[in-house]
Order: sequence, then C-alpha cells, then structure tokens
Amino acid sequence: MDKIQSLRGMNDISEAQAEKFLYFLQRCSKIAQKYGHKYISTPILEQTVLFERSVGNSSDIATKEMYRFTDKGHNDVSLRPEGTASIVRHFIEKKIDKAGGVFRFFYYGPMFRYERPQKGRLRQFHQFGCETFGEDSYMEDLNIIDMVVNIFKFFEIPTTLHINSLGCDDCMPSYKKNLLNNISGIKLCDICEKRKITNPIRVFDCKNEKCQEKLQNIDKITDSLCKICQNEFDSLMGSLDSLCIKYIVNKNLVRGLDYYTKTAFEFISGDIGSQNAIAGGGRYNHLVEQLGGEKVSAVGFAIGIERLLELINKPKQDQDIWYIGATNDEALEQLSKIVSKKRSDYIVLTDYKIRSFTKHFNNAIKKSATNIAILNKQELTNGQIWTKDLTNDIEKIVSLSNF
Ligand SMILES: [Zn+2]
Ligand SMILES: [Zn+2]
Repeated sequence: MDKIQSLRGMNDISEAQAEKFLYFLQRCSKIAQKYGHKYISTPILEQTVLFERSVGNSSDIATKEMYRFTDKGHNDVSLRPEGTASIVRHFIEKKIDKAGGVFRFFYYGPMFRYERPQKGRLRQFHQFGCETFGEDSYMEDLNIIDMVVNIFKFFEIPTTLHINSLGCDDCMPSYKKNLLNNISGIKLCDICEKRKITNPIRVFDCKNEKCQEKLQNIDKITDSLCKICQNEFDSLMGSLDSLCIKYIVNKNLVRGLDYYTKTAFEFISGDIGSQNAIAGGGRYNHLVEQLGGEKVSAVGFAIGIERLLELINKPKQDQDIWYIGATNDEALEQLSKIVSKKRSDYIVLTDYKIRSFTKHFNNAIKKSATNIAILNKQELTNGQIWTKDLTNDIEKIVSLSNF
C-alpha cells in the first residue's frame, strides 16, 4: 500500500524540535502571566466573514491566502490565518466590551495560510500572542514591547526592534488623501497599483526594490502625525529609552494588516535570512468597533514560533530524572508500585522487561537519567533498593520505605 504523507507545507513537530517548542510555550506563558495576561483558546475554524471584516480586503491573507471552504451545513468557513480576530470576536460575543475595564489575554496555536510553500513558508504554522483591550495609554504599548523584549532576552535571540506610528482617525485620512495625490503619477508594481485603490499606505510594505526607490522621497505618515499621535509616539520613544530598549524608527513599517492604528512594531532577526520579522504587533483601536462591538482600544503582538526553533537552545534539564529497572521476576512485580510512588515527586522512566544490571544502567544513561535505581534480588529480600546519583556520583542502598 502507498504510504500516507503529510500535506504540503504542514509539518510535524517532533523529537528535539518538540522539546524546544513546548519549552518556548511554557516560558512565554509564564512571562505573559507576569504581565497580567490570561490564557484564552479559540477555535481554529471560524466564519469566513470574521476574517474578511478584520484582516481587511487589501491584505494578501484575505485576498488569496485563506483556507476557505463550505462545510456540510453550507456555512462559508475558514481556518484562522491569525489569532487576533477570534479573540476580538470572543470579546464582543461575551459582551466583555460592554463591561468596561482592561482585559489582557494570551494565546497560542496553529494558524493557516494557503501560501506557495517556498523554503521556510508553512501552510500550518504556530504563533504565540498577547492582546490588551481597554487601555488607551501608550504605556501599555510599552508594556507589550517590553514583554517581547524579555521573551527574546530569555531565549538569547538577538533582534532589532523597528517602530513606527500609523496615526489615528484625525491624521490618517488626510495623510492618505495626500499620499494618493503624491503617488498617482508614479507607476508602481502590479500589487502596489492595486494597493493604491484598496489601502494606499501599504505600498510602503512592498518588497519590490523599484517601488521602494520610487517611494523614497514620498512623505510618510510618521511625518504627518497629529499633535496627539506625535506626543504619544515621542512619549513611547522616551520610555523605551528609559528602559534601555534600543529601537529604530522605520517609517516604511506599515504592517501587513489593515487594522493597525498608532504604534506599530516589528522585531527583526538578523540570523534568519535577510530582514525577517519574527514578531510584530501594534495598536488596533478600531477593530473591536469594526467587528460590531463598542469603541474599545486594543494593542497586541504575535510571535511566529517555527522560525525561532532553530535559534533557541535545548532547555536545560533542571529536574531530576529517575530511571528504575528490575533484574528478576519478584522485582518486576514490585516495579509498578515503586515507580508510581516515585512519580509523585519526579520524572520517572522505566522498562518493564527483566534486564541485567548493566543493561539497565546503560539504558538509563542513554535516556539522560540523572538518578538510577535498580531492584536486585538480594537487596529486595532486605526491603532495599540500589541507587546512584549520577550528577554527584554517589552510590547508595536505601530502604524501600524511604525511597
Ligand atoms: Zn493622530
Ligand atoms: Zn510594489
């Protein structure tokens, strides 16, 4: 029979990668909780309209990259291309937006985009992210950025922070009008020509060098901010300075999604290819309202996990791992009881086959155990067990009641 293979662009995460993956999620979850964020899990499948209305029509995701299909109940559904929209949907559906106050969430899980699987591009990939609702202050933007900085610091991943301000309802619309005038006579690439109609500021997002060259001298939104946006942007930069967080103001940074307002940021890693963003986020003060909720401000970020796995080191083992084995029938009968008791405090590996002392010993070493216990006939008759602490090289025979 033919072997069944996984789908293109969809990878298993296993072995050493899986160990790092889990470690990353556990660490990030702990860090997010320190900043007051609470875990939330939303379905990977949603009504397509949710993403159409949130991600926006000018983004590549909505236009061509969604895993979209009709289910058996004739519903138009899509696999989530990102995490924010579902959380906003939840926020509105549960009427949290009407309650007032500040709410902080973190999430992780698989996201789906039907991209051409070029090197490194996955159709199923994982993100870890945080969202804060109901906090207007730029200090929350700072908080969010500080959290990402601390995550990368913990994993010793060198990054460069790029920031920009995308303005607000007062300054963005007039800027857009001017921008459209300024670029109407300039012939850009096909994608940018479409962007002129859907969302002109996204021309700055273009990877085409010719477009970048032609747009070099065009005024950016950062040069046309209203007083409030400018003050907030200045305050944010001042606060980043005071926390000794280094950054670059990147006026071309407009982010791939339409819903961003004010602060936008990306963390660029020099280690993966050229100029690759490994995390990004910003403020999106209109999205809750845009999806039918109250006017509630929001800010958040997402980190792509797969690309980081190559950059992080395997977790240091800071817990004792016991290996317990039996060398004869009587010992084997006792094994489960002894293992079960030891598991209340430790990670315990075992082997349900009778093996020689040496075989068990070598097995334990192979499995990176830190401590070995072997049930031999002689000790067992005395109610004892042979043990060795490999870290400190100490051998002991201890009473089973104390083991
Ligand atoms: Zn403004
Ligand atoms: Zn272009």
